[in-house]
This record gives sequence, C-alpha cells and structure tokens, in this order.
Amino acid sequence: PELFLPERANSKGFDLTHRPTLKRIDTARAPFRTHSWQAGPLIAVDAPAGTTAPVPNPADPSDTVGKIAWANADTVRAAGAAARPFDATPSERARILNAAADLFETHFGELFALLHREAGKTLRDAVAELREAVDFLRYYAARGMEPAAPARGVFACISPWNFPLAIFTGQVTAALATGNAVLAKPAEQTSLIAHRAVQLLHQAGVPRTALQLLPGAEDVGAALTSDSHVAGVAFTGSTDTARIIHRAIAKHLAPGTPLIAETGGLNAMIVDSTALPEQAVRAVVESAFQSAGQRCSALRCLYVQEDIAPHLINMLAGAMDALVPGQPWNLATDVGPVIDAEAFDGIKTHVDAARARGDLMHEIPVPGTGHFIAPAMIRVSGIGALDREIFGPVLHVATFRADELDKVIDAINATGYGLTFGLQTRIDDRVQHVTERVAAGNLYVNRNQIGAIVGSQPFGGEGLSGTGPKAGGPLYCDRFRMHAAPRLRG
Ligand code: GLU
Repeated sequence: PELFLPERANSKGFDLTHRPTLKRIDTARAPFRTHSWQAGPLIAVDAPAGTTAPVPNPADPSDTVGKIAWANADTVRAAGAAARPFDATPSERARILNAAADLFETHFGELFALLHREAGKTLRDAVAELREAVDFLRYYAARGMEPAAPARGVFACISPWNFPLAIFTGQVTAALATGNAVLAKPAEQTSLIAHRAVQLLHQAGVPRTALQLLPGAEDVGAALTSDSHVAGVAFTGSTDTARIIHRAIAKHLAPGTPLIAETGGLNAMIVDSTALPEQAVRAVVESAFQSAGQRCSALRCLYVQEDIAPHLINMLAGAMDALVPGQPWNLATDVGPVIDAEAFDGIKTHVDAARARGDLMHEIPVPGTGHFIAPAMIRVSGIGALDREIFGPVLHVATFRADELDKVIDAINATGYGLTFGLQTRIDDRVQHVTERVAAGNLYVNRNQIGAIVGSQPFGGEGLSGTGPKAGGPLYCDRFRMHAAPRLRG
C-alpha cells in the first residue's frame, strides 16, 4: 500500500507581538464583552427541555456569561434514536469539516470572548486553543479521506473544560471525519463554547442527525455510556472518571466497544547541572503556570540537580514574580483563574497544607475575587510525595544528587502515570539514557512540555494517563473505524 500523506497545513494563528493584530483581536471580541449566550441541547428531534442554569465567569463573580438548558436521560435517549451516521463521501465530509475550520477562524472574536469569560483563558491560551481546534478539523478531515474501513456508528464524545474548544472539536471531528454519528457531552463548566462550536459545524453542513449536543453533568454521561445506540466512546478527563466509563461500557454496551481515553498525568521534568539556566527557567514557568496549570500535560514535579538548585530556584522565583495574574480579558494577563470553586478549594487546601509544613518556597499575589489561585512553588522530597494530580498553578520542586538520576527515573515511573516528561541537559548521552527509561507518551528535551502541535506532535500517554492512540496523530482515526485497514503507518 502507498503511504498516505494528507495535504493540509496547520493554522497560522495570531502574532501577539504585532500591534495591529492585537487591535484587530480587540475590535473583534469587543461586542462580546457583555454578551449573554443562551444554549441548550442541539438534537435532531423534539425533546422536553431540562432545567436551566446561569453560566458563571470563573474570574469575575459579577459577570454572567449566559444561560444553559441541560439535557437529561430522556434527551439522551431521543438523540440516540435519532442519530444517523455522517453519510457522505469521504471527500464531501472533508470539505464540510474544512468549511467548519474556516468558520471557526472567522468567528475568532466571539470564540476568544467565550474562552476568556466561560473558561478563564488568557488571550495567549485562547489563541493557541483556537489554532488547535482548527488544526484538528483540517487534520482529521484529511485523515478521513484515507482509504479505510467503515465507521462504527454512533460515538459518544465526552470532553473536558480545560480545552473546551480544542479537545471538544478534536474528538467530534475524528468521529465525523470517519463517518460516525456523534453524541457530544461537553464538560458542564464550558457548555456555551461547545454549543457555539456545534452551531458552526452545523452551519458548515454537518447534518443535525450526525452531530447532536447534550450538555449536562454525570447523569448525561451515564445515560450516554449505557445507551444501546452507542458503538464507541471518546473521553478526555480524569483517570477516575475513565474508570467509571470503562465499567459502564463493560456492563451496558456491546462487547468490543472501544474506549479512547486521555486522562490525567503526574508529570516531571529533570534539570541537571549542565542545563542552560535561562532556558530551563523559561520552560519550567511555561510548563507549570501557563493555562494556570490546568493542562494534563503541565509540569507538576521539577527535579533539580542539587549543585545548581539554589541558583535555579532563585531564578524561578524571580521569573514567577514577573508573571501577571489577572482578568483573562486583559492583554497583559499571563495567569487566569482556575475553573470553579471546587477546583479552587482543592488546590488551596493543598497549598495551605504545604504552607503549614513550612514547604511553601514562593508564591505571588493574585486578585481577591474570582477563583484565582496564587502561583506557588512547593518543596517536596520527590514525586512520590504527591498522592494526586494538583490541577492548578502549583509547581513542586525536589532536588537530586548526580548519582541519584536512576532513582529519580524509577520514582517518576512508579507513579503509574505516563503523559509528559521534560529533560534539560547539555549531555547527549544523558538525553538518550533518560528518554529511553522514562515511561511517558510525550517526551520533551530542552524546551517546555506543553502545547503539543496537531500533526507533528501527536499527544497522549500510557499507563494511568490513557489508552491511546494519540490525538492529532496518524493512528487516531483508526479507532473510530470498524477495523484498521492494513496500510503503511505514517
Ligand atoms: N494537548 C495539550 C498539551 O499538549 C494538553 C491537553 C490536556 O490538558 O488535556 O498541552
């Protein structure tokens, strides 16, 4: 078979160092500064409306972003019965998904406003997120044209709030590009963004029977993973929720129903004494604090070789002081809020316990209202001291002696997670030694460890971090098909 090389290009995004571009963004999002979005289930048949709720802004308790009507078990049943595979030729499906990518790009002002106000995303994060969503659309559109086995039928796509546009769009698009019908349940916290994305996909030509939106909480998720129409599930979120879904599939759905899960991480970076300090500090700060640490790829535990630790930690504290926490809408903001009160309380408890032990090494001030967690640096003995993923702007730091490198690698592997890993060193042999031994899906050397690029850095983990195949990679779409056709692997 011939090597399949889809023709496509990643989006160009926006250059945020270019003043006219900033002006253009500011003008485009301005009408949505106080706009109130109304959203609810988007399903192909009439079904009774559920309860409604106001949508809060995590950064500003005085701002209501809109109103959402929830789906319920009845809505899920009606949508499941109405679902029909995306019945069009592969190239017609690709044309429609590419048209949706264009629509996402032209609606950047509204999508940025939603990402700021509903998800607490800074402009830099919002730009990266829109790019990734558009890249997923075009990449899977191209992959969907690969000569391959048919669709499975109906896919349930259950997505997280931390990439409410990109991951939502990625799952949905992979399922649609391969000809499936989709029942999409976005995270409750970010249903408005998902609603807008589905409207744009419909506008581009995706049939309403092929893509239905079911906003809701666990009850909607549970109804989906027990609906007999469902032939596959794509999930991104916590490892605990993935376990629940796995059990539900085994109990209610046909044997062999695939679960594609991308779950948590407990990610480490090793900085040895040969690393370039400026490069290491920049990589650490980006990996730990961008998106307020709310990425499953984020750096949680930094291991610094002890000879350089005092110097590097001083530099890190200085770099943290230069971060600007604040309202996501402000152009200067680097660190926004965490998503909600529950997230805030869980992270704050963790930081307060470190403070009480005397292990809080550094912290910077944040606004007093809104769910702002102060970016913090905490001393730990090692990654084993973390019993869970702290999903916020909290960096843990441990030190190691030169002869302890293999012990550090063992400790990292012993967490059972395996998502991202970072290494900063100028010794080539060490790059090989360490990267061969650390079990992680995405290994990053002498750079940050977040922000995987669709098509060139497929993203996904092993162990407790997920089932694979990696998102944005050549094998992902195969899991949405009946059987992988034999072909050359790209
Ligand atoms: N793909 C994202 C990254 O590389 C992380 C996705 C996630 O947090 O689920 O940073």
